[in-house]
Amino acid sequence: MENLKKTDPEIAELVGAEASRQRSKLRLIPSENYVSSAVLEVSGSVLTNKYSEGYAKKRYYEGQQYIDQIELLAIRRAKALFGSESANVQPYSGSPANLAVYYAFARPGDPIMGLALDHGGHLTHGWGVSITGDFFTPIRYELHPETHLIDYDMVRDLARKHRPKVIMAGATAYPRIIDFEIFASIAKEVEAILCVDMAHIAGLVAGGAHPSPVPHADVVTTTTHKSLRGPRGGMILMKKAHRKAINKAVFPGLQGGPHNHTTAGIAVALKEAATDEFKTYAHKIVENAKHLAGALKDKGFDLVSGGTDNHLVLVDVTKRGTTGKPFAKALDLAGIVCNYNTVPFDPRPPMDPSGVRLGTPALTSRGMGTAEMDKLADWMNRVADNVENETALSQIAKEVEELCDGFPAPGIPA
Ligand SMILES: *Cc1c(COP(=O)(O)O)cnc(C)c1O
Repeated sequence: MENLKKTDPEIAELVGAEASRQRSKLRLIPSENYVSSAVLEVSGSVLTNKYSEGYAKKRYYEGQQYIDQIELLAIRRAKALFGSESANVQPYSGSPANLAVYYAFARPGDPIMGLALDHGGHLTHGWGVSITGDFFTPIRYELHPETHLIDYDMVRDLARKHRPKVIMAGATAYPRIIDFEIFASIAKEVEAILCVDMAHIAGLVAGGAHPSPVPHADVVTTTTHKSLRGPRGGMILMKKAHRKAINKAVFPGLQGGPHNHTTAGIAVALKEAATDEFKTYAHKIVENAKHLAGALKDKGFDLVSGGTDNHLVLVDVTKRGTTGKPFAKALDLAGIVCNYNTVPFDPRPPMDPSGVRLGTPALTSRGMGTAEMDKLADWMNRVADNVENETALSQIAKEVEELCDGFPAPGIPA
């Protein structure tokens, strides 16, 4: 970043510091990852200079000879990778992609249905502080109090009662496989649009490590930067019948010009995601998460739903004599970065809930495996015993950094 260093040394230094943080820590936030150098390069390319409101061959500005080809390539790759009939690669991110779906199929005040935030749903699934819960009438389903699995009976009962325009299936903190078939049958019965928000698991789906929602859902939304390992962005896959409504909702409904540098980054990431290497990565994410879950259980940590089928583990830490926030802060001091999180039916407040959320995509992208998951569980165990012992925590941070030195982070020079 030689030019940046000259123009703005302050920002250059902060970017450098962030790069070394990403290199020297164990990053366990399940929505984060390391993109490849190829994705980084195209994200910082001259494509950022171009305006191209509209869709390929139907733009409002001239000079689209290359942009059209890039966007069509991204769409073609998305359709091929996920086996979908149509794709829109323009949403600025996951939240606008979801808003576009509601805008396409519901009017203000209409009922929409989603998993409650404090049970693992996303803000944009109708939580009150989000436009999705404010402008529409949110109907919230929850997890079953004993199994901590989605309460499909509740989903069916609520859907029959409220007849939502859109049913959202998908989560931001749910460690189990979602039964898309049940959701599809419920949506069909009540004539709702089924939208699966696969933001977290898109990489697993692409790599065949999680069942695909595409055959079952009318519409599938996703971010492109989580397990899918692309640039920050959003994408909507849909049945042909919904293509017009979705495209219109994205542009001109919600957005102006698409972020072409991101579109190109999505195209590159989709190409990478179609490789055998990516399939291996996707399966290793799940293997690592299961292994980490087992190792944490052995250390007396309590896991929501007892384990995991996907890329993330929700840990109730209260039985270890701590709570989510101080534990997450202590882990950060020890070089292990995660977020505190509510557990289902959490008796504690959201600002200091009972749990932490751990994900394995970023570690897996560095090539870490089950042996490293064992070390991680050991360190987490030590942190739980030393939440307020800064000396012990900084000792662990040193050991973590040593481990990280052996696993180069994609896109970050050593
Ligand atoms: C991350 C996430 C989103 C939102 O994505 P942003 O890019 O942060 O707007 C939407 N839905 C789910 C399930 C997510 O996990």
